[in-house]
Amino acid sequence: MFVQVALPIPKCSLLTYALPTGMNVTQGSLVLVPVGHTFRTGVAWEITTEPVWCQGKILEIAGTLGDLPLLGPDLLYLLDWIARYYLRPIGTVATAALPDRLTYKRKRRAIWQPGQTIGSLPDSLLPLATRLYNQKKGLSEETLAAQFGRQGLTERLNALVRRGLITLETSWHAQSMEASPTQDQPVLPCPSPPKLTDEQSLCVQTLHQALTTTRFTPFLLDGITGSGKTEVYLQAIQNCLELGRQALVLVPEISLTSQMIQRLRARFPETIAILHSGLSSTQRLEHWKQVRHGQARLAVGARSAIFAPFADLGLVIVDEEHDPSYKQEGAVPYHGRDMAIVRAQRTEAVLILGSATPSMESLANVERGRYQRLVLTRRVGGGRPPHMESIRLADPLMRAAMGRDGLISPPLHQAMTETLTAGRQILLFLNRRGFAPTLLCYRCGEAVHCPHCSVTLTLHKNHTRLMCHYCDYTQEPLDICPVCEQLSLFHFGPGTQRLEKETRTLFPDARIARLDRDAVSSGQYRLNETLAAFHDRHLDILIGTQMTAKGHHFPGLALVGVVQAETSLCQPDFRAAERTFQLVTQVAGRAGREDNQGRAIIQSFDPNHYALRAAMSDPGSFPAMEMAFRRQAGYPPFRRLALLQFSGEVQPEGEIFCQTLKANLPVSADVDFLGPTPAPLSKLRNRYRWHLLIKEKIDGRLHRALGPLMNLAEQLAGTRIRVEIDVDPQAFL
Ligand code: ADP
Ligand code: ZN
Repeated sequence: MFVQVALPIPKCSLLTYALPTGMNVTQGSLVLVPVGHTFRTGVAWEITTEPVWCQGKILEIAGTLGDLPLLGPDLLYLLDWIARYYLRPIGTVATAALPDRLTYKRKRRAIWQPGQTIGSLPDSLLPLATRLYNQKKGLSEETLAAQFGRQGLTERLNALVRRGLITLETSWHAQSMEASPTQDQPVLPCPSPPKLTDEQSLCVQTLHQALTTTRFTPFLLDGITGSGKTEVYLQAIQNCLELGRQALVLVPEISLTSQMIQRLRARFPETIAILHSGLSSTQRLEHWKQVRHGQARLAVGARSAIFAPFADLGLVIVDEEHDPSYKQEGAVPYHGRDMAIVRAQRTEAVLILGSATPSMESLANVERGRYQRLVLTRRVGGGRPPHMESIRLADPLMRAAMGRDGLISPPLHQAMTETLTAGRQILLFLNRRGFAPTLLCYRCGEAVHCPHCSVTLTLHKNHTRLMCHYCDYTQEPLDICPVCEQLSLFHFGPGTQRLEKETRTLFPDARIARLDRDAVSSGQYRLNETLAAFHDRHLDILIGTQMTAKGHHFPGLALVGVVQAETSLCQPDFRAAERTFQLVTQVAGRAGREDNQGRAIIQSFDPNHYALRAAMSDPGSFPAMEMAFRRQAGYPPFRRLALLQFSGEVQPEGEIFCQTLKANLPVSADVDFLGPTPAPLSKLRNRYRWHLLIKEKIDGRLHRALGPLMNLAEQLAGTRIRVEIDVDPQAFL
């Protein structure tokens, strides 16, 4: 028998090995195999009677981890799906799905050769040799590293081996896959569920019916913030567990898991597995094993939790399904929501995609009759939605009052003062993620757009070129606004730091913190601690980005200010309007949830933009307008996209590659190629970056073109240019 083993080796990720007689390997088992001069851990992907493909001698599998396959058939199916859909080697995908602790670790022992004496040795080797001398059983590399340090240890050991004084014995050790002893969970008094509202009841009944059929049934739960979506999830989970199946809850960000876990723990007195990359690898493996061995019937996590090894998954919940954070970046760029759909389909589970601002993709699936829509239109307990005000920044009087670089308008300043006086809290919001500088008109509020792609043009090359990052359209920067024909265009840039400074100047006595990716990664603020401090009212004003707009519930928050809606509206992304609509709706939903009515102030250069108008006064009208734009411009959910990204260390080499690629692109009946063009982040970690957008002409044709395109690009790229493909891109950086 032969086994195709999936290994994390680029390009050739399935290798054939022979199964030694007496060894038991099943599909999905973890195996140890020789690769080159070492051993590596892989997943038994396929078992065959004939070798599938081989070059040279077929080696044998060296070891296998227990009898229990680590990945059941539905997970193998999902991994295969990801590998094909996102064009990634299966070995890389399989590795991404397993907890990283689940590998064989190499251990070495240094053993003194009997009969050898120390003799004369250089000073660098003497202490090590003295330590090993006369140790009959030898010493492990770890023990030696603890005493002598890891630095240079291998070299010194090798030097002793060359002198014939010691031998090195290598063995491979796997993590135990035994179930861990169950700890007695404290049995908390679980309050009985609240009496459901009529709308909630209808949702729960419909879901209950679907759960009893044991069929894949997808739902979009479209409910405004505070309408009790989470309560609907809880009752569906209850039903699912009672039916003897397991349930998985996905949240878009790690920081949101603890809140969800609290609500689950308060309802279900049982082990809840937590799966996300913020845990230590030991913890992750523990939780993973709890799921694998059936000790946990319920798991919560960020996108990678879709790989939870449940035996009979009956319910998958994707909270805030519209959130772009579900898209994984890195080695395997999958979309957590979309893969949750694939998994639920395979396990015949009920799927709930929940959001107050559903994605266009999910709304389109409702329109196509693929998903059933469930709605919650009212806040539980009749809490009033926030009072929304719009401030037009492209107003000469407003600009005069704010000064050239001012970010806080007089009305916002006034509202902030009132809020602080009332002892309540403020959230100021400014987008920074993936910000690209652009030209904006301070009179009419319009940004300059690409004539072909309906996305904002971006300033490039020290602001000497205006460029479309979808196609290769370029023009000179303008002075005169093409819409209002005034000399009123200005360079529009981000300004969270500037905002912090201005806020501190205006409110010197307020307790203020800034929370964006920069502030967090520089260690200036700790994400969870800052959020907790704001929650517990130890802060008065929080300045934040997307992270703060999501799902968090702050009881003392009374005022939300969106400082410049254009920081998301004028970005070179066809989803800019959707993102802005979602953002304004979501941040506004943070303000004043219980008895107090909250306030939201939205500052923008163009309050008449349809995304802002809809968010302010008629959210229900947004999807139809956005769908019309997408259909007309040929963007998702009507046409699929892929982004071919390439980068190189030397700029001219990249430019030559772009030209060669462009000259060699086939004329395709299936897709259009837009670009190549420099990426908005044109240089990142010392690499120059470009991309090529691939847009299908006919629904469903994208993948026909991608395989040949990748072959072509990789062939032309050689070794100097790195090429990667991102299917269904969520960001165009
Ligand atoms: P969403 O997830 O839609 O934002 P939540 O589920 O968080 O809304 O509900 C908002 C608040 O209302 C929560 O504090 C929740 O405990 C409470 N709640 C939900 N449903 C009910 C109900 N039927 N009766 C009373 N309180 C409820
Ligand atoms: Zn363009």
